[in-house]
Amino acid sequence: MTFSATSYAFTTYRDAGHYIGGEWTHTGRTEDVINPRFGRSIAKVHFGGAEEVDAAVRAAKAAQKAWSELPIRDRAYVFYTLRELMHQHLEELTWLVSHENGKTYDEAKAEVLKGIECIEFGCSLPNLAAGTQLEVSRGVTCELRYESCGVVAGITPFNFPLMVPLWMLPQAIVGGNAFVLKPSEQVPLSMIRLAELFEQAGLPRGIFNVVNGGKEVVEALCDHEGIEAIAFVGSTKVAKLVYGRGATAGKRMLCLGGAKNHLIVVPDADLELTADNVLASFTGCAGQRCMAAAVMVAVGDVDHIVGAIAERAKKMVTGKDLGAITNAQSIDRITGYIDAAEKAGAKVLVDGRNASADEGGYWVGPTILDGVPMDHPAAREEIFGPVLSIVHVNTLDEAIKMENANPYGNASAVYTTSGEVARRVMASVEAGMCGVNVGVPVPREPFGFGGWNDSKFGHGNITGWDGYRFWTRVRKVTSKWALQKDATWMS
Ligand code: NAD
Repeated sequence: MTFSATSYAFTTYRDAGHYIGGEWTHTGRTEDVINPRFGRSIAKVHFGGAEEVDAAVRAAKAAQKAWSELPIRDRAYVFYTLRELMHQHLEELTWLVSHENGKTYDEAKAEVLKGIECIEFGCSLPNLAAGTQLEVSRGVTCELRYESCGVVAGITPFNFPLMVPLWMLPQAIVGGNAFVLKPSEQVPLSMIRLAELFEQAGLPRGIFNVVNGGKEVVEALCDHEGIEAIAFVGSTKVAKLVYGRGATAGKRMLCLGGAKNHLIVVPDADLELTADNVLASFTGCAGQRCMAAAVMVAVGDVDHIVGAIAERAKKMVTGKDLGAITNAQSIDRITGYIDAAEKAGAKVLVDGRNASADEGGYWVGPTILDGVPMDHPAAREEIFGPVLSIVHVNTLDEAIKMENANPYGNASAVYTTSGEVARRVMASVEAGMCGVNVGVPVPREPFGFGGWNDSKFGHGNITGWDGYRFWTRVRKVTSKWALQKDATWMS
């Protein structure tokens, strides 16, 4: 009963080894997996390297051909069963995500449910993935077929231990590929449980493999000539490195990076809606999500809205309304930005420094910095904590200019009751995922998730139909079965 938590209470788990060809192996040095709510180890994670990656690729290769030859309906059926199993184990998976990541129960449950939604998209692929065909000339047809790439890989971050891998796995595996996953070394436990559920759902051995570890595993995946495509989700610095290394080795790459999302608030914005929504956006998952609001660009006099956000933020209870921060270094980084902004003249309207909760652990409370200078690091760099930097401008044009000067391009939102304002912002901000009165504009399935500029390297989105395109190769077949009397040039 290693996966049976039912509350925030401290629970230990079995160590995270590697899952290769359906077997568990425990090789390489180990590090602690920390429950951030307690700041204490709940398991060890093993650090593999090139040897484990090679073993996983060989196991994947051995299983992949037979898997790709099954009808797509049979491949999708495994995900129907997986979906049922995930619903049956919803509570347990929720607590597991909460324990290894530190997010609240509600946030963890939302993550599991969003993962299930991604699986549902995978289940729908047999209905979507019929290639087109057309008689292009008398007696000659052209046909498109989506075929597997072979062995593919994914590398994922700490902030969504279950959901981000599920951005990749349904499309890739229903698409006929075998997968090697490297989860974040900070949160390897959800993928151990998923491997068990995949087995129960009937996925053949070798189609889903997990190699745990850090940089060495990532580099070995990029360099391995048996891997055809890699998706990465993490910080911009690493996304760029991984994109370059994998592409140089001739692989298809899609690498999603970090973010600095702007929320533009104008005076005609609805007070209640905006205050609730901005608060949820910057405090959700303790600000540790790539879609979190990071900068509020206050256009003109919106002090009444700033006041309402601050009032709500002050009432939040760490540990109950707000989850933990992933580790001690992150606390230093986040509070370092707050200290520096205060020194540069920003007013700390709500101060989350020195926050704590009963269990110990790592905490920063909701923090609102008002009047951050536009060029200050707190207004330009990814803080990745529950910190809202408010920058004041006089006009909408200045707000849009500020948004567009930022190198990232993940998300952007505007709060307004004016169609004209919404239309102008939606037409001109440099961001891939935009919201009108929605502070976390995550495109729900079947719409694809993906930013622009320094928030993504590679083409297309990671979820939805683009995901299926990424993990498959399109074969074009042109056929003629008989000479035609009324021949055209191609007949
Ligand atoms: P990270 O970049 O530190 O780690 C991501 C993955 O890369 C992990 O599996 C890690 O082991 C590996 N890694 C770390 N350093 C490496 C190196 N030097 N070489 C090779 N591999 C390396 O990211 P994180 O701290 O786990 O996650 C937070 C970041 O992820 C934030 O920047 C956040 O914005 C971003 N993120 C982006 C999205 C998106 O969709 N754009 C979604 C979630 C998180």
